[in-house]
Amino acid sequence: MKKISVWLVCLLWHGLAFAQVDTVQRVIHDRYNSLAQQEKPYVILISADGFRYDYADKFDARFLKAKRSEGVEAASMLPAFPSKTFPNHYSIVTGLYPASHGLINNYFYDPQRKEHYSMRDRSKVEDGSWYGGTPLWVLAEQQQMVAASFFWVGSEAPVQGILPTYHYQYSEVMPIERRIQTVVDWLSLPAEKRPHLITFYLPEVDHAGHRYGPDAPQTKEAVLELDKHMQMLTEAVAKTGLPVNYVFVSDHGMLEVDTKNMLPMPAAIDTAKFMVSGGGMVVELHAKDKKAVKPTYRKLKKEAKEYQVYKRSNMPKHLHYGAKDDKYGRVGDILLLTDAPKVFHFSSRPPHPGQHGYDATKVKEMHATFYAWGPAFKQGVKVDTFQNVDVYPLIAEILGLPYHHKIDGSRHLVEKVLQ
Ligand code: AMP
Ligand code: ZN
Ligand code: ZN
Repeated sequence: MKKISVWLVCLLWHGLAFAQVDTVQRVIHDRYNSLAQQEKPYVILISADGFRYDYADKFDARFLKAKRSEGVEAASMLPAFPSKTFPNHYSIVTGLYPASHGLINNYFYDPQRKEHYSMRDRSKVEDGSWYGGTPLWVLAEQQQMVAASFFWVGSEAPVQGILPTYHYQYSEVMPIERRIQTVVDWLSLPAEKRPHLITFYLPEVDHAGHRYGPDAPQTKEAVLELDKHMQMLTEAVAKTGLPVNYVFVSDHGMLEVDTKNMLPMPAAIDTAKFMVSGGGMVVELHAKDKKAVKPTYRKLKKEAKEYQVYKRSNMPKHLHYGAKDDKYGRVGDILLLTDAPKVFHFSSRPPHPGQHGYDATKVKEMHATFYAWGPAFKQGVKVDTFQNVDVYPLIAEILGLPYHHKIDGSRHLVEKVLQ
């Protein structure tokens, strides 16, 4: 009897684990392109997580190098602060800085909700109430243009009640061939059901960069593998004969950090008085009683070596992360930011040699990638570094999607890079 119940518990547990994330395509059935939208071009927005601005040259990614020279290449793309995955993916698709869209980090605390957001917690990731702004796929669907997502931060949650018509729960087990075939299948649907905006996300380069560092042969291998997958995707899509535009971006870069001499928790932090959130290069302190902020800030300023200390009220303006920017009240009362390549280390787990999160305006290795090609783009254009919030107006323009809400991005790229 005991054996059977243990077996049943195991079965149930595994069942639940699988039930949490599946690999099934989710389809919202009552969505169609209007007749006007059926005439529009197509955009595939691809993110290669952690693909540093110089990786294509450093590791000779030949396909991407060829494509960018046929289209548009940015010297680099500047991620918003902090240069982490969730805030930046969501900045790219909303045109808003993290403090204005609400996803201020991969993990953060919301003092008003008295709740933690975590990118590892499906119930949070799929809860639309955490996400501000109007992601591009929401903008499209609101204007009766069908959108699809083979992963993107925010695409699994109904934002303003709207999910992309076709989407998946995030999982890393699906073979790339199946993912590419799905994109081709989407583009082979009848015109009224065919998505004009597709997001596509690849995590492998980030994984390798963390595990082995940005200079490692394993990271080179991941970059070259991704280059091959980009070629497979582009060649498969070309067979549809559709006017498809490619926007290839990343969310941030990668730096080999100092794992020999890491910084411990500063003595000035009394964990009975503060909720400590984060680690690595960015640590946020939420005061349980606001009276503790001033004295702790003063002590930290005195003690601080190899890291900077800011209050929510005196955050450097260019970070767009201060009290005035913080629409959802999620930024900590005090923020600690290490000087690159230093990192804090509070846990017993061994640190990754490759990390990101620093202020990208100060640490070039945090810079991300932007290449774009296809019928909407000028050919052989090189542009200077720009901020990732500027991608939103560009894609909205290609797809002919007007918007009237305020964003942080500017339209300066539109004339420079579009035909
Ligand atoms: P980090 O490098 O810590 O900023 O986070 C990168 C990680 O984010 C990747 O390794 C992915 O596993 C994870 N990730 C990316 N997109 C999603 C998503 N939609 N849902 C859950 N995790 C994701
Ligand atoms: Zn990332
Ligand atoms: Zn990463």
